[in-house]
Amino acid sequence: MLNSAAAARRALPSIDRLLKLDAVAALIETHGRPLVVETLRAVIDEQRSLLAKDAAIPPPDDDALAAQCAKQLRVLAQPSLRAVFNLTGTVLHTNLGRALYPQVAADAATDAMTRAVNLEFDLGGGARGERDSHVEAWLQRLTGAEAAVVVNNNAAAVYLVLNSLAPKKEVIVSRGELVEIGGAFRIPDIMARAGCKLKEIGTTNRTHARDFEQAIGPRTAAIMKVHASNYAIQGFTASVPEAELAAIAHQHELPFINDLGSGMLIDLEAYGLPHEPTPRETIASGADIVTFSGDKLLGGPQCGLIVGRQDLIAKIRKNPMKRALRVDKVRLAALEAVLRLYADPVRLMRELPTLRLLTRPQTDIEAQARRVLPALAAAVGNHADAKIIACSSQIGSGALPVDALPSAGIALTPRAKRKSGAADALSTAFRALPVPVIGHIRDGAFILDLRCLDDEGGFIAQLAQFQLPAHAH
Ligand SMILES: *Cc1c(COP(=O)(O)O)cnc(C)c1O
Repeated sequence: MLNSAAAARRALPSIDRLLKLDAVAALIETHGRPLVVETLRAVIDEQRSLLAKDAAIPPPDDDALAAQCAKQLRVLAQPSLRAVFNLTGTVLHTNLGRALYPQVAADAATDAMTRAVNLEFDLGGGARGERDSHVEAWLQRLTGAEAAVVVNNNAAAVYLVLNSLAPKKEVIVSRGELVEIGGAFRIPDIMARAGCKLKEIGTTNRTHARDFEQAIGPRTAAIMKVHASNYAIQGFTASVPEAELAAIAHQHELPFINDLGSGMLIDLEAYGLPHEPTPRETIASGADIVTFSGDKLLGGPQCGLIVGRQDLIAKIRKNPMKRALRVDKVRLAALEAVLRLYADPVRLMRELPTLRLLTRPQTDIEAQARRVLPALAAAVGNHADAKIIACSSQIGSGALPVDALPSAGIALTPRAKRKSGAADALSTAFRALPVPVIGHIRDGAFILDLRCLDDEGGFIAQLAQFQLPAHAH
């Protein structure tokens, strides 16, 4: 036995011999020699241990080994970061990359990526420039603020503001606003990392003006308001209106900071959506510094925007941490293009994917559901029933948490007895498509909310490749 096993192992070819095969030469052409050699080695090692366990299996021939190598290389060649169909019903899905760039922003980003640009270069004077200058005028125009700074994301914006304006000092925040956004963003933690002391006041449901007034002391550096992005406190509640908070802060010569989270630049009510506070309103009611995200409702690239009073912005800009948190030319180019769209409401509605998706009428989505239903029903065959359903989409990313958007979709209900496992199998099979389809499971059915289905043709075409795993049949 032992001898024949050893013989079988010896029957495996050398890497050099495999490298001479035409099929392997073609792989080198596509993937480059180092990866092909690494993969061949892995394939042979695998075979060697298989043969060591069971000498009865015949050793594979050279072509079979090359084919196995080709298969592994195909997997390796697939990008890790891939396009997917977001049919989750959450428009701004943090795990799926939040806002989609409008085409003008994608074009501007590509240009900035592939060419030299005047990122920190003043074309008028020929001297060193400031990278935020490319978007500052637009932000002034759109928010009414005196000045603006752009950083990596809104978490960075909050950190930088606190670290610049209140190091080693107290910042007063209502207990009703000590939010956790998800992941590692919690106001108390950011506050600690920024070197500030959080002074919590009031209670979860009720905070009054006197709570703020009593908390102000010689160590107070700012009053801060945080937008309750992903929850709502309802019932017996009280909070202090922004203008009143600003007045209290200013009486004590303190800055009033407002973290808006999403911070939509225009009034969403004009588009039939629920109201979301805008930086312009917030500044008008007395905020000295406002922070918000670039890739939530604003619909642009990931970044954090800080707008407000000139003297405070100057302090923020001087903080050495600004350098560590700055954005690159690509995102600045995209942001400038997006802000430009905001200057023209007609173009904005037509070209900004986030706004277009959020305002898609239910009837439009339902009509689309009727068009894709036959292809979906055919793909799942007799494994599931496909039915058009009304559903409600979420805005996502902590924007307007209690407001749902009426939408339509398709529910795939497995015919199998053990529905939950069968719905999981459907979900897995949809994720295995060339462009993975991401939906959600509810009440034993796999649900596809079609609000964000842009490429309908591509979606239908790839369903021809839909395959349930063998054990799900
Ligand atoms: C989303 C959010 C943040 C974090 O913003 P990112 O852009 O995700 O870093 C901070 N504060 C509030 C209130 C938010 O809603």
